[in-house]
Amino acid sequence: MSHATVLDAVGLGPSELGEGTLSVTTPIDGSEIALLGEHSADDVEEIITRAATAFEAWRQVPGPRRGELVRLIGEELRTHKEALGALVALECGKILQEGLGEVQEMIDICDFAVGVSRQLYGLTIASERPGHAMRETWHPLGACAIITAFNFPVAPWCWNAALALVCGDPVVWKPSEKTPLTALATQKIVERAMARFGDAPEGLSQVVIGGVEAGKALTASPDVAIVSATGSVRMGRAVGPVVAARFGRCILELGGNNAMVVAPSADLELAVRAIVFSAVGTAGQRCTSLRRLIVHEDIYDELVPRLRSVYAGLPIGDPLADEILVGPLIDAQAHHNMQDALDRARADGGIVHGGERILASEHPDAFYVNPAIVEMPSQTEIVREETFAPILYVMRYRELDEAIAQHNDVPQGLSSCIFSTDVRETEQFLSAVGSDCGIANVNIGPSGAEIGGAFGGEKDTGGGRESGSDAWRGYMRRQTNTVNYSRELPLAQGITFEI
Ligand code: NAD
Repeated sequence: MSHATVLDAVGLGPSELGEGTLSVTTPIDGSEIALLGEHSADDVEEIITRAATAFEAWRQVPGPRRGELVRLIGEELRTHKEALGALVALECGKILQEGLGEVQEMIDICDFAVGVSRQLYGLTIASERPGHAMRETWHPLGACAIITAFNFPVAPWCWNAALALVCGDPVVWKPSEKTPLTALATQKIVERAMARFGDAPEGLSQVVIGGVEAGKALTASPDVAIVSATGSVRMGRAVGPVVAARFGRCILELGGNNAMVVAPSADLELAVRAIVFSAVGTAGQRCTSLRRLIVHEDIYDELVPRLRSVYAGLPIGDPLADEILVGPLIDAQAHHNMQDALDRARADGGIVHGGERILASEHPDAFYVNPAIVEMPSQTEIVREETFAPILYVMRYRELDEAIAQHNDVPQGLSSCIFSTDVRETEQFLSAVGSDCGIANVNIGPSGAEIGGAFGGEKDTGGGRESGSDAWRGYMRRQTNTVNYSRELPLAQGITFEI
């Protein structure tokens, strides 16, 4: 598939891609595929104003009708799944299967959100006063800025946007400056749905093209009620305090340092498949990628050679080609960070298998690597950091308590898992004294979550929750109502106050 064919299929023609200052390259071969115009600070102000105006109208549209727009977005996504999935692969370098999976995730969350649009439930509450009724209602909150990372260029937008839209909030999307084309293509899909819907207010869904400065303008604006930001811990540390200082609402989805504990009773066949998918999938560039493997000493010498032999046969190359399982790193900086981490691991006594750059003569401007397995004597500082590359650190343990303590002894708290067929071990891992992550799995890897559950993590991962379960509440304001239908005015707590 040529690059031009992929762009053409999503309706991005040369006239939209050739005039601007933002150079967009494909990690497949490092070539430039677009030069986009960037929004200025004034443009961002105007976009926010349009979103605020759209809110005035959209909040009055009944929830189920808002759901109809999201249903149409899901329908359009189904029609354009192949084209958008290929663009995801072209622009961020994940293999086509994963690109298609990302679009499927968008479709799934649209379906989920349509259901939610009829279930924006509050409680009815027993009042302590006679002739009084209490209830809780949920109202739209305001414009929602969605700042996204390069590695999941489209699905996290949809986790947020599908819910925000049914909850009555307009959305303003600032995609990663490394992957703006997928956002423009998605916006075209949304516009088709809006045209079919008929009377969606102008400014209901907008895209801001730009880098950190554009993100900062959205974050600082008091007219942006919600900032949902996905990216590095460094970004979260900048965004969180700015939103908090103006008492805005912030949903942070930041870095992970995800581990798997492999116990003696584990089904190693399943474990090997889960480890490889979650450690090398998306070339180790998922927030939920498996980065640390904590293996019981009795099975270490069986598991590690099996992994090394699967790693030796991994098909690495053009992510748009059918047989490929591992695509390129996003850019030169990612490759530099990977090599730097491997050097630090070696200095700490780690034994590194793999990790070298490959295909450099065919693609001097692209960065393909052999995924690395690194046997570590202990969990040193480099292991406690998130390096956004396919590096799997492997360590031994003897007692489960010790493995869980090591598992939790990192700053991040996104995803985790245990492979074991011993119910005592698996239940301990899921209990209050087990994994401290937002996601904890048994006998599946840490990556590849379904949309039905709430997604997010603790500690440096930022504490946000998106997607399924009751994450919709993050996009609405809660109101407690007390209604007096009696002819008296009793005060709560039995207070008397006669005038
Ligand atoms: P990044 O932090 O460099 O950029 C993410 C986004 O934040 C970009 O759109 C960027 O322009 C914007 N940004 C950066 N600084 C900002 C600021 N001060 N104010 C406003 N916006 C700002 O991240 P990346 O390299 O694109 O993505 C990789 C990181 O994202 C990894 O750490 C990964 O774990 C994390 N991630 C987390 C999740 C999750 O759901 N927890 C999902 C995907 C990626």
